[in-house]
Amino acid sequence: MTPVTTAQSPQLLRAAVFHTPRNPFRDDTALESYSDGGLLIRDGRIEACGDFQPLRRTYPDAIEIDLRGGFLLPGLIDTHVHFPQLRALGCLGRSLLDWLEECALPEERKMGDMQYASQAARTFLRALVSHGTTSALVFGAHFLPATEALLEAADSSGLRIITGLVLSDRKLTADLHQTPEAAYRDSTSLIRQFHRRGRLQYAVTPRFALSTSEAMLEVCQTIMREHQGLRLQTHMNENLLEIEQVKNAFPWAKDYLAVYERFGLACPSAVMAHNVHPTDGELERLASSRTAIVHCPSSNAALGSGLFPLRRHLQAGVQCALGTDVGGGTGFGMLKEGLQAYLMQRIAPNGCILSAAHLLYLVTRAGAEALGLESETGDFSAGKAADILYLRPPEDSPLAEVLRASDSPERTLGALFTMASSESVDEVRVEGAVVYRPEQSAEPR
Ligand SMILES: [Zn+2]
Repeated sequence: MTPVTTAQSPQLLRAAVFHTPRNPFRDDTALESYSDGGLLIRDGRIEACGDFQPLRRTYPDAIEIDLRGGFLLPGLIDTHVHFPQLRALGCLGRSLLDWLEECALPEERKMGDMQYASQAARTFLRALVSHGTTSALVFGAHFLPATEALLEAADSSGLRIITGLVLSDRKLTADLHQTPEAAYRDSTSLIRQFHRRGRLQYAVTPRFALSTSEAMLEVCQTIMREHQGLRLQTHMNENLLEIEQVKNAFPWAKDYLAVYERFGLACPSAVMAHNVHPTDGELERLASSRTAIVHCPSSNAALGSGLFPLRRHLQAGVQCALGTDVGGGTGFGMLKEGLQAYLMQRIAPNGCILSAAHLLYLVTRAGAEALGLESETGDFSAGKAADILYLRPPEDSPLAEVLRASDSPERTLGALFTMASSESVDEVRVEGAVVYRPEQSAEPR
């Protein structure tokens, strides 16, 4: 996949515009919207965002691109997704540990075949971008060549991908294990080759506490110390049986988080998926160590993991973002993931009632904050990269009908989260350059 065009400058995009340059959990005015809006892009950056007419007057020389009838949102950010698990989607009726063994790991094993892995990498990246995702924190494969294939394909896709070799030395099957020495050697080689190449970054990726020995976690700590600007991603507190087994595997740890803390892995660069069953003490320590949590509501429901205590996370001051958790989740759509978060909070005891502004924040700016990309992407503030999702629902769709009847920005945005999927994605840009257009509208603008 190669970018369709290169960035031109300056361009003035005209359509309805939505973004959340602030956190709506703290600020009621966080949602900014313009029904006849404009985005001024110069050299791949946002120079201005606001009402169209004043922008037209301020920038008379800008090339106008008329996108009226559609909606401009910041590129979506998926902070937890597994590259090898696309074909594990739809494996229903199991809980975490059985699902891993019967659905996920058989697919992960196939990544030992390079041809399979290269093909899977292209399909995976296409799946992300065709749903409007421009940045993602991705679990790579357990195999070095397959992870290398993903990084190569990610580099040419133009997307912002943060990923790494998945590390495990116990609990899975022998063909998915590596020794701590091999983990160190292979991770270091990938970091030297790919970290900060183009838009890529590297994430040290111990699969989860249960599948990593203390020696492996120590290797993760060493790698984090030896290189600047790496991310750390893993899982925690997803499922009650898993938590019980972690307690047995690390009898010295007072709780799940304590395992990672022992090796310095709870830190501002760390992003941990799930945390469905935290103690109050863990929430406090996540907040004080500035470790981010990724809520994956579709996965939590599909695997019966539980109801995410969002309010407790927010009250403790823990940074939260959203992830699809493909293939434990139900697909690549981050808008759908936002809706699923809303639905589950509606039925969770003491759940939060999430507004459309909350959902937009969770799938854009919150993800950027969790990934340390908040000065680069996540909203349309001046100076940020022009990472843009253009949604244009098909004219004859029920969604288009709902949107025509909408009487407020909140209703419009709520309808997009409720009903829009990949068929509404009409164009995706990263740093101003088009990286995706559906085949039926491939004519240049
Ligand atoms: Zn996961």
